[in-house]
Amino acid sequence: MSNDQAIILDTIDKFLEKEVRPVVKEYELADKYPYEIVSKMKELGLFGATISESYGGLGLSAEVYAQIVEHVSKVWMSISGIFNSHLIMCTAIEKFGTDHMKEKYLPLMARGELRGGIALTEPDCGTDLQAIRMRAAKKDDHYILNGTKQWITNSVEGNVLAVLVKTNVDANPRHKGMSLLIVEKEAGYKATKLSKLGYRGIDTGEVEFNDVAVHQDSLIGLEEGRGLQQILSGLALGRINVAARGVGVASAALDASLAYSQERETFGQPINQHQAIQIKLADMATRVEASRLLTAKAARAYDSGERCDLEAGMAKLSATEAAMENANEALRIHGAYGYSPDNEVERYYRDAPLLVVGEGTNELQRIIIARQLIELGNF
Ligand SMILES: Cc1cc2nc3c(=O)[nH]c(=O)nc-3n(C[C@H](O)[C@H](O)[C@H](O)COP(=O)(O)OP(=O)(O)OC[C@H]3O[C@@H](n4cnc5c(N)ncnc54)[C@H](O)[C@@H]3O)c2cc1C
Repeated sequence: MSNDQAIILDTIDKFLEKEVRPVVKEYELADKYPYEIVSKMKELGLFGATISESYGGLGLSAEVYAQIVEHVSKVWMSISGIFNSHLIMCTAIEKFGTDHMKEKYLPLMARGELRGGIALTEPDCGTDLQAIRMRAAKKDDHYILNGTKQWITNSVEGNVLAVLVKTNVDANPRHKGMSLLIVEKEAGYKATKLSKLGYRGIDTGEVEFNDVAVHQDSLIGLEEGRGLQQILSGLALGRINVAARGVGVASAALDASLAYSQERETFGQPINQHQAIQIKLADMATRVEASRLLTAKAARAYDSGERCDLEAGMAKLSATEAAMENANEALRIHGAYGYSPDNEVERYYRDAPLLVVGEGTNELQRIIIARQLIELGNF
């Protein structure tokens, strides 16, 4: 890591300790959107973390970005979602957009003035994205969008979405009829916030499009039929991010357990002197370390421009299962106190399950990994 990058990470750590940690409980339990934190994240440049410097971003590598996400998620996982979905959208624009589109959107998005999200999932499909029904019909020089997207992060508080649509419902294979459109909120979509088990404080919504018209220049790459490929390319960064979130949550659960097991006594000694607790701590730390290494490896592969779905899939699978298992073990180590919302481990237990579902479920990750292994023939 360069000196500049170390300074960025240090600045973020200070922000997390001073401005985020003291208010997490208040915002999270009330499911309140953290406007002040978002303003500070804008100042820190987080909305432009992976956008190129030429468009006003920080131009950070995925490797450094993953460390930022780990640190942020160790304090409050929800807020990493505010800039992650946004940056997946920015990645799609930067990789596949026209120069005009990049100049129009990326500087505003890097400053957080426009905050984006990705609208892929629908009420009837998530994993099988090719089954989407959202229609964008061409009329003169506009596309007219009709349909519903579900579980869309940043759809209520953000102001622009990359929307996966069908521009040709009869295409065979189905993905050849799929396209990605940039839709600004002022075009008229309606987003309604949904209630969630965890990942609270930030908005995840149902989004309705009723005859929403966007100009044909909103089509990413100006070519129909490339949408699925474009968004999957952005999702590689998304999966590395989710892996980093998993490392953050798994590591926070470990730290809380280390501290509590030193202070809590049973049978005349701290519980960390009981072998059953030591075994849990050892397993938790090993999961954190293994997941951190896999995430760094996937990020380096992404940065080198290599195909990295195997690495990103393994990192996502390992780190998010680590978050689930460590949150569960932390709850056991804390006994009854872990079951109270006064204790942060209760939040880890509610936050972790999102990670095994979002950005492609872990069942899907296993399928992606297995297909690659079969293609490679050895590992
Ligand atoms: C808090 C939250 C935020 C989200 N944010 C966004 C967002 O910003 N944008 C967005 O587009 N989506 C978002 N999502 C949606 C998320 O990406 C989907 O929930 C996810 O892709 C899974 O889709 P699904 O829920 O429809 O499950 P389904 O696809 O219906 O799957 C149900 C179950 O079947 C399994 N399954 C499916 N197919 C197979 C198969 N072939 N083999 C084996 N098992 C299979 C799945 O793994 C899962 O266990 C969010 C979800 C949540 C909970």
